[in-house]
Amino acid sequence: MKKEDIQNLKIGVIGGGFAGSTAGLALSRIGADVKVYEQAPKSGEVGAGIGLRPATVKLFKKLGVFEAIEKVTSPSDYFEILDAKGNVLNREVWPHLEEGGEKHNTRMIHRRDFVDALHSQLPEGVLQLGHRAEEITDNGDSVTVKFTDGTEETFDVLVGADGIKSKVRALWSDSQPVPAYAHAYRAVIDGSLGEGLLIDDNLRMYLDTETGGMIYFLPLRHRGENGQISFDITFPHPDTTWNPNVSQEEVLEMCRNFDERLLKIIAKLDWATVNQRAAADLDPQEQWNTDAVVLIGDAAHAMLHHQGQGANSAVLDAGVLADCLVSEDSVPAALNKYTELRKEPVQELQRISRESWDAESAGKTAFPEKEKIDY
Ligand SMILES: Cc1cc2nc3c(=O)[nH]c(=O)nc-3n(C[C@H](O)[C@H](O)[C@H](O)COP(=O)(O)OP(=O)(O)OC[C@H]3O[C@@H](n4cnc5c(N)ncnc54)[C@H](O)[C@@H]3O)c2cc1C
Repeated sequence: MKKEDIQNLKIGVIGGGFAGSTAGLALSRIGADVKVYEQAPKSGEVGAGIGLRPATVKLFKKLGVFEAIEKVTSPSDYFEILDAKGNVLNREVWPHLEEGGEKHNTRMIHRRDFVDALHSQLPEGVLQLGHRAEEITDNGDSVTVKFTDGTEETFDVLVGADGIKSKVRALWSDSQPVPAYAHAYRAVIDGSLGEGLLIDDNLRMYLDTETGGMIYFLPLRHRGENGQISFDITFPHPDTTWNPNVSQEEVLEMCRNFDERLLKIIAKLDWATVNQRAAADLDPQEQWNTDAVVLIGDAAHAMLHHQGQGANSAVLDAGVLADCLVSEDSVPAALNKYTELRKEPVQELQRISRESWDAESAGKTAFPEKEKIDY
């Protein structure tokens, strides 16, 4: 689309998480009149870390916001998978870490720092906190949104970045989160409580092949005097309650096969600060857009966290959406092109993430997606 046409586009983004905030950045960079509406009055991210992959890092460099993100991250070279006792099953450098003579290390980041860094880079007035979309009407070539504070806005394009339980998606889909019959218990702890395991900036995943339990040990060495560790225990569990309440004793019992240093870390966790969440994803969605509405991030393709690709995919969606508005002739063509480009790779990641890990797959490669996805 021509620059003047993009400048005349009024775009509403529902959700100010990783997808929506990146969309706010990418769409404002191409000149659109964009606002991001987030229901929370302030950042409410849970205490946990994630890894921003090389493709995500490259996008942030392109958008000119990498410096702000770099400041609150540590650079990682590889992902290591170990068995429950700490024997290495696989160690692989992050795909596409070095390209064009430049390194784009995966960056280890705390979720809250990530959202705060993205928000800090949004132009003045783009982020509208405390705005919950309540009623959405797709008028064909525009979209009207009523917010819970009684205000109403009409947009040329509405971007649904409102997560796995998306209200925007409900315009055409009755898909609900699909329980994975697994729990994630997550905490961020001081490096001094790491039983000597915090040795560098690389992500480690300990896999108990007997029970299917996993411990993700994600270093955040740039945080605090001693560095910090994002410690994430994932276990099969029949309880599908969204926020389960499992005791420390029960988790210790589940984790009995793990290295005793990991057991000591669990025993010392302040259980009141541990975030408990039932894992869930979405079935692949047939429809991602209409002529004026488009889904990005978890709203379109929530996936299980076993490949660490949900947030990364959400961010990349936003970049591709902005590119498509520039490259295509009209809004409907741009939204269709975006769906065409993103649906296949992301649905492959959803599929692989559902497969989770076992000794055989972990022994083969740390990145099972790389045969089909070239970024
Ligand atoms: C245990 C666990 C571990 C994970 N680990 C990783 C990892 O290591 N790497 C990785 O890449 N991904 C990981 N993920 C996945 C990642 O968290 C998600 O894919 C990512 O948060 C999706 O971002 P999003 O912006 O699409 O959605 P969300 O983060 O869900 O954000 C949606 C936003 O929309 C807002 N909202 C919702 N409804 C409304 C409304 N009606 N009006 C206004 N605002 C609204 C919400 O408040 C929220 O801020 C993990 C997920 C889990 C559960």
